[in-house]
Amino acid sequence: MTDVSEWKNWSGLVTARPEHTVTPPDVGAVVAEVERARAAGTTVKMVGTGHSFTAIAAPEHTMLRPQGLTGIVAVDRDAMTVTALAGTQLKHLNADLEALGLSLHNMGDIAEQTLAGAISTGTHGTGGVAAGLAAQVVGLELVTGTGEVLRATETDNADVLAVARVGLGALGVITKVTFRVEPLFLLEATEQPMRWDEALASFDQMTAESHHVDMYWFPHTDRLLTKRNDRLDAEPSEASPVPRLRAWLDDDLLSNKAFGALTAAANLAPRAIPPMNRVNARILGARTYSDVAHKVFVADRDVVFREMEYAVPREAGLSALREARAALDASDLTVSFPVEIRVAPADDIPLSTASGRDSFYLAFHTHRRADHTAYFALMEPIMRAHGGRPHWGKVHTRQADGLAPLYPRFEEFLAMRDRLDPDRVFANGYLRRVLGP
Ligand SMILES: Cc1cc2nc3c(=O)[nH]c(=O)nc-3n(C[C@H](O)[C@H](O)[C@H](O)COP(=O)(O)OP(=O)(O)OC[C@H]3O[C@@H](n4cnc5c(N)ncnc54)[C@H](O)[C@@H]3O)c2cc1C
Repeated sequence: MTDVSEWKNWSGLVTARPEHTVTPPDVGAVVAEVERARAAGTTVKMVGTGHSFTAIAAPEHTMLRPQGLTGIVAVDRDAMTVTALAGTQLKHLNADLEALGLSLHNMGDIAEQTLAGAISTGTHGTGGVAAGLAAQVVGLELVTGTGEVLRATETDNADVLAVARVGLGALGVITKVTFRVEPLFLLEATEQPMRWDEALASFDQMTAESHHVDMYWFPHTDRLLTKRNDRLDAEPSEASPVPRLRAWLDDDLLSNKAFGALTAAANLAPRAIPPMNRVNARILGARTYSDVAHKVFVADRDVVFREMEYAVPREAGLSALREARAALDASDLTVSFPVEIRVAPADDIPLSTASGRDSFYLAFHTHRRADHTAYFALMEPIMRAHGGRPHWGKVHTRQADGLAPLYPRFEEFLAMRDRLDPDRVFANGYLRRVLGP
């Protein structure tokens, strides 16, 4: 089916008007589109759910939609792996895995993304033995820029698997993803407000003792909300989730909808932001609950925002955070959204932001109606000074020449791109900027 329509990403920062839109029902239809584009000297881009803030998914000629490639196709309980079609949304994979008594090891804050979209930009959560989704991938099927269907596993085409797990959409159209999975497990979440000095002083201890640690600092205040998730040695039936009314009050009303209304109003009166942040930081009280892992990791995000996130070396993280606060305090900017702080163990994926080094993530957000440019421009040099690597799916201004020195295996990625997509069938403006022509 072909039609012409405008594509817009979740944040509304990027729009595109592809010449053709196709929803391939199978791998053969993907091959046909790639071959057609290659012969015509044009480009193909498969989009996910558009949750990247950058133009990484923006199609220029043919846009492939993911909705025809969904669902689990194989479960191997001996190897503890699950293979799903690449357009499956994480939330559907999570629900299906739960029904099978299985779970991913770790994930980020939301589960709206497609499997291929999420891994392609290095989507990550915090802590664990693998914070990034791509580091949990043990197999891929992809259609290369020459129309070849490649199956990459740890034994077949292992060099392709090594690189293509965080492929930025530059190496091929991924049609299947195989994840390593675990038996379904419970997490106990402990949310606790803390003062700045206490939180920073205890951060290393918290990350050493808890499996997953997340912190949110409310700009212009001395307060953070800390969230620690620990694995419970208990059956899933023993979960004690947040009671529904409390969940609605905390997650829906306070953390999302009322917060959205407040921050939208605050954009009209920026001087109201610091006192509003002090109120918001106090409203979010301490609570403990437990649930199956994906329900603890993931939250709804109803308020549309803009985000920039950098990964700095783990040991530089707290200094970078202190410098970020000092710079904001010294500026006349007002910021209503919290700064999110997470950590990740090193992985072995060439373009993962955690490639080869334990990492500390700092994520800066603004409301969609606030101008994010001055805030992000203030923070970016601080992140750069610490050797920060920008999230491929979040706002940043870096280009190929500045990114290459940050990734010791950048050349390996470029060589794989030359091999799998010699004619640049998967190119777009963003990829030309961050990888080169
Ligand atoms: C509210 C919100 C919360 C978020 N939370 C987190 C978080 O906790 N942690 C984190 O790290 N990030 C987070 N992100 C960022 C998000 O996870 C990434 O930007 C992710 O890549 C989006 O996935 P998507 O399915 O929307 O893909 P898109 O943004 O649509 O596409 C991303 C890339 O994947 C490519 N792609 C998609 N499908 C295929 C395919 N089949 N084959 C090859 N390439 C493909 C696209 O071409 C593009 O290059 C968040 C974003 C939002 C908006």
